[in-house]
Amino acid sequence: MTADDLLLSGARPYGGGAPLDIRLSGGVIAEIAPAGSLEAAGVETVALDGRSVGPGLWDAHLHFTQWVIQQRRVDLAGTRGVADAVAVVRAALAAGFPMTEGVLFGYGHRDGMWPEPVTQAALDVFAEPVVLINGDLHSAWMNTAGAVRLGLRPDASGVVSEGEWIGVLQRFHARANLPIADYRRAADDAAARGVVGVVEYENVLNVDEWADRVAQGVTSLRVDASVWPDRLETVIARGLRTGTPVDPDGLVTMGSLKVVVDGSLNTRTAYCWDPYPGLDAHAAHGCGVSSVPVEQLRELLVRAREAGIGAAVHAIGDRANSEVLDTFEELGMPGVIEHAQLVRVEDFPRFARLGLIASVQPEHAMDDRDVADRYWAGRTDRAFAFGSLHAAGVPLRLGSDAPVAPLDPWHAIASAVSRSRGDRDAWHPEQVLPLEVALVASTRHPLAVGSPADLVVTDADPHALGRDALRGMPVAATLLAGRFTHRTL
Ligand SMILES: [Zn+2]
Repeated sequence: MTADDLLLSGARPYGGGAPLDIRLSGGVIAEIAPAGSLEAAGVETVALDGRSVGPGLWDAHLHFTQWVIQQRRVDLAGTRGVADAVAVVRAALAAGFPMTEGVLFGYGHRDGMWPEPVTQAALDVFAEPVVLINGDLHSAWMNTAGAVRLGLRPDASGVVSEGEWIGVLQRFHARANLPIADYRRAADDAAARGVVGVVEYENVLNVDEWADRVAQGVTSLRVDASVWPDRLETVIARGLRTGTPVDPDGLVTMGSLKVVVDGSLNTRTAYCWDPYPGLDAHAAHGCGVSSVPVEQLRELLVRAREAGIGAAVHAIGDRANSEVLDTFEELGMPGVIEHAQLVRVEDFPRFARLGLIASVQPEHAMDDRDVADRYWAGRTDRAFAFGSLHAAGVPLRLGSDAPVAPLDPWHAIASAVSRSRGDRDAWHPEQVLPLEVALVASTRHPLAVGSPADLVVTDADPHALGRDALRGMPVAATLLAGRFTHRTL
């Protein structure tokens, strides 16, 4: 599927400078020269008329099927309490909101900040099965009919969380059998925001699912397809190593082993050195939950490494981060820490020294600032500390964790450089990232000869935009390997 040669004329690189001509050939950037200087005989030319051009954007952490499914879930993101959520569900049922396999799913509430605890009885006013997935995906609140439908037995709160819930979420959605058109639309929508690639963290056999989608015409994105521990041996047996292409065009490549070693902030399961407020350090889960002990993590990482598979380890609490750093240090292997939301001060330089990458989600900092102020009170100077990570020399990657935040890197970039959203003031503004750093953390290659011809053309230079304009960056075109995946020109 190699695209024909193409000449982009009159492009301005981000940050200003004289306009350039960029010639794309064989899927890579073949030539960059001052505007008007490249021969165009026989080559299709697209005049950019001084628009800005940068490397195509990557979303370094998402769950694509859940993002697609999100359109079939009642939006609970704005709810402020039990009665509020019940009212939204009632309205959705009355309006005939689509059920999925007989269940009304909702998504996005964050009851960590609600004035009262949730109860199953509150949702038992509905006869229909109702399952409301927490905004961080780590738990769900359901009524009796919903629990029966999913084969779960929650306590009086109606909440099922962590391992038990994640398993159901994945199994249930594996059966959901979404139409391929839904995937194609979601991929095209991402391309329309300048996205050329995503790192997929669904807990399924991602290499097969994505190779199949590409064969069915979902070709707007590159995909790094990760694998979870329960399928590690399957991909090893097939000889897949990180970077191995799994479709004829090489859009989908084998990614890393994903290991989740703790929970999340909202569910108070992120594994911390200090107890959560109101909890005793010695109480069960007073400091959060370690879901994969170090010995088991070590075994998994060693197994991955000997098979040529990289590692991406989810660690949110500071103790989880310390233990993951210990493990990488002991093994002397490279890797990525996903989230790295709370990090001990002494671990920032260690993170950098070990050459590990921090894969962070700036929109989480905006979604969770109030929860962090409450549950990590006194520690938020090192929470979502993108500035400290960068200052220590840790390479960063930005992602959305869609569906937790929208699949739109401009949102992540805007939050990273401003630490603010909407009408709120900046939260720990000392932790902002310079725009240049946020852009590099959202791409894989520089705009240079020899790089893949993965480009985004924008109507404005990001350096010229304020926070809100940056979030809504007008994208004129996106190219992947020299072919347009989005085009308004
Ligand atoms: Zn995730």
